[in-house]
Amino acid sequence: MTQAASAVPTGYAARRTFAIISHPDAGKTTLTEKLLLAGGAINMAGAVKARGENRRARSDWMEIEQSRGISVTSSVMTFEREGITFNLLDTPGHSDFSEDTYRTLTAVDSAIMVVDAAKGIESQTRKLFEICRLRDIPIITFVNKVDREGRSPFEVLDEIEEALALTVSPQVWPVGMGTDFQGCYDFAHDEFIYSKARANGPCDSLKKVEGLDDPAFTSMIAPHVLERFAEEAELAREGYASFDADAYRQGHLTPVVFGSALRDFSVDQLLRIVARFAPPPRPQPSDKGPVEPTNDEVSAFVFKVQANMDPNHRDRVAFVRFCSGHFKRGMKLNHVRSGKPLAVNNPIYFFAQERALTEEAFAGDVIGIPNHGTLRVGDTLTEGAAFRFTGLPSFAPEVMRRVRLEDTMRMKQLRRALEDLAEEGLVQVFKPMFGSNWIVGVVGPLQLDVLASRIRGEYKTEIGFEPVPYSTARWISSPDERKLKDFIKDNGMSIALDRDERPVFLPKSDWELRYARERNPDISFDETRELV
Ligand code: GDP
Repeated sequence: MTQAASAVPTGYAARRTFAIISHPDAGKTTLTEKLLLAGGAINMAGAVKARGENRRARSDWMEIEQSRGISVTSSVMTFEREGITFNLLDTPGHSDFSEDTYRTLTAVDSAIMVVDAAKGIESQTRKLFEICRLRDIPIITFVNKVDREGRSPFEVLDEIEEALALTVSPQVWPVGMGTDFQGCYDFAHDEFIYSKARANGPCDSLKKVEGLDDPAFTSMIAPHVLERFAEEAELAREGYASFDADAYRQGHLTPVVFGSALRDFSVDQLLRIVARFAPPPRPQPSDKGPVEPTNDEVSAFVFKVQANMDPNHRDRVAFVRFCSGHFKRGMKLNHVRSGKPLAVNNPIYFFAQERALTEEAFAGDVIGIPNHGTLRVGDTLTEGAAFRFTGLPSFAPEVMRRVRLEDTMRMKQLRRALEDLAEEGLVQVFKPMFGSNWIVGVVGPLQLDVLASRIRGEYKTEIGFEPVPYSTARWISSPDERKLKDFIKDNGMSIALDRDERPVFLPKSDWELRYARERNPDISFDETRELV
């Protein structure tokens, strides 16, 4: 496909790899569609679906996604505009999927935070923001739904400033809100955007003006709205920090754009800020020090694996983020964990949900590599060097269940399913030392529904869940092999192996965990473990 070839013209400096973070319902999906539309990746908003001939039956897990109105999977969407290649990584919005989200945020260089104008900062926004802050990911704020009655813009700005300890710098301001809404004004460019078509219509027009008191602008606005807007605009410009690109990139300041994703107000303006100011690929941490995007040697890491993206082909796609070098299709990369070469002959780019082969990729790009289980989350690929990217943890599960197979003839399918889905990071699978049933662990209970539904849909196998007495899992290790062996022997009923055959301790309560810790000072009980 020609798009693939033209999508990568100017190297890593032209890449903007970002995610959208928000609380469910704030408008992330709508904004994603409008950004893709603005970038020409889709033809019609609402059509973030496969085009092409293979428009295929959606599997059960996608039905869950639809019926519950949540995104269960992260995916990547690449689009291009004015010489910039945007890689938008979708983070699942539901709080149950924090692990997946966390990993996705390791692969971005910046984020857009979508806030509902009426609701302000909500719990999930705050959590995701904290992850971004931990990783120094700079944030652009989009205050959505200004076409509806909301709080005053000042209230929203002050809440962002206080709740997140961020300096706010308003860039695009609403001209009236709710029933008074007439458009938005871009301070930096003196542009007024509005709907020519009809009062409540989508944004379709832009007027370049001389300033806030240009009659070309003021004559378009109802007097009572204009009076209020003039006051607000003055206060917005005088009372808040002016934009400072360095402060933004260091994560101290957030430019704020007011708009309406649904009616397409301020989407172009938002994209322009991403293009101009969002950082290109940043150095990535590794066990041998940060890897610079300017480094000539290709390097990349796997941040997500998705099985059965296409139910007709039992394939598995590893999502790989490049960190340096200039990758070309057919290259043999060093798969550092196994030490074996991996020929990447079918690297895939994702346009909305359409796939296309790509010939090359630069730092910041995300591609999919179809494989049969070789690639795992956390794996590093390089042109030769043997180092590992760090910072992709696996978290201790908070909900544990025993898997009950309804039809014992389907043991093989179940094993396969659990292996695949564990690889995706949807679930953690433990094999108890005693007893034959698998125990699964998840971070949030909704993941269990998704698990059962996918195993039914994709592996034609019915499962149920039974409670187990365990409250969580801890990876155990010790510099003293003998002590570890003794501990495992003494606690056999509470020991299981993870899918890499590493021992985990399954305590029944916090108290039991504390007790085990106190009694065994030479053993570490880890809540997370670095993948690979
Ligand atoms: P998500 O859960 O964050 O992905 O939110 P959605 O994009 O699905 O939007 C949630 C709801 O808000 C949907 O009913 C949207 O139509 C609506 N919505 C999104 N953006 C706007 C907007 O700018 N104005 C109004 N009035 N509604 C919006």
